[in-house]
Amino acid sequence: MKPSILCILLLAVLPFTAAAQETALTVVATSNILADVASHVGGDLVSVTALIPPGADGHAWQPTPADVLKVAQADLVLAVGIGYETFLGGLAENAADVPQVIVSNGIGILPFGGHDHEDEEHAEEHVGIYGEPGVCEDRAEEDHADEEEHEHGACDPHVWTDPNNVIIWANNIAEAFAAADPANAEIYRARAAAYADELKTLDAEIEHILAVVPEERRVLVTNHEFLSYFAHRYGFRVVGGILGGSTLDEPDPQTLAELVKTVRALNIPAIFAEVSASSRFADVIASEAGIMVVSDLYSESLSGADGPASTYADYLRYNAQKIAEALG
Ligand SMILES: [Zn+2]
Repeated sequence: MKPSILCILLLAVLPFTAAAQETALTVVATSNILADVASHVGGDLVSVTALIPPGADGHAWQPTPADVLKVAQADLVLAVGIGYETFLGGLAENAADVPQVIVSNGIGILPFGGHDHEDEEHAEEHVGIYGEPGVCEDRAEEDHADEEEHEHGACDPHVWTDPNNVIIWANNIAEAFAAADPANAEIYRARAAAYADELKTLDAEIEHILAVVPEERRVLVTNHEFLSYFAHRYGFRVVGGILGGSTLDEPDPQTLAELVKTVRALNIPAIFAEVSASSRFADVIASEAGIMVVSDLYSESLSGADGPASTYADYLRYNAQKIAEALG
């Protein structure tokens, strides 16, 4: 066959091949970080949209009627779990037929407020594996803003700040896709495995970025407590969350005064706030203690496509670079 005829034949066949690979699954992820991970696993077989838009604060976000409709029309919903999506129960009422997959099952869970024990060198120890009975009570359907909700011992949902946990997400997502679309099961598993390799490389890269921070400066004070898993993985200590475990919490004056004392006592050069929530309390502590606030970490959300954290890998790299610059 002459090459030119082969080309013509290929061009004639290609549109049909593409049509045969049309989207097999329509998936809604709650967080946009989770949506990025799901896109890596699903590739062109899965159409993934996120409920919480880029730059938004997941703790404060509430679904619109359009979001409820989006969920009702999906093949499945992916959620972080661990009480993160306080709106999930309400969404489920309107989409009872749509399976909800909790991607964090199998992850070792840290409690909020592990830093309360000043005498413990490494206060943050896993309280158990998420998904096993009794590890975390499921608070997803409870009303938010309960003062007791994020007290010491409650489960911290910000598991994605350790890429090793995101590998577990990717594997759980692959199994959920495989169950919903068995014909492509091996493709989803292979993509999750390839993405896991990327995340292992990312993990090593983050360690390298942070290598400039000496042991005594591996201390984090954050606006709301979202870096415990990051700290646990990379040998940092979270000594304070200004707001608590959620951006909806507010500190009392005594907490602020204690944090100023801690910052001075530990000679901490910088504290960290996030783009998606107000840094006003962090600013108060920093000006009292005469130190710097790094106010542009990404916590709950990726940036927009043109921003510095438009994928999960860039999100983690960006935050690590900011932390390394400020404490290194
Ligand atoms: Zn958070």
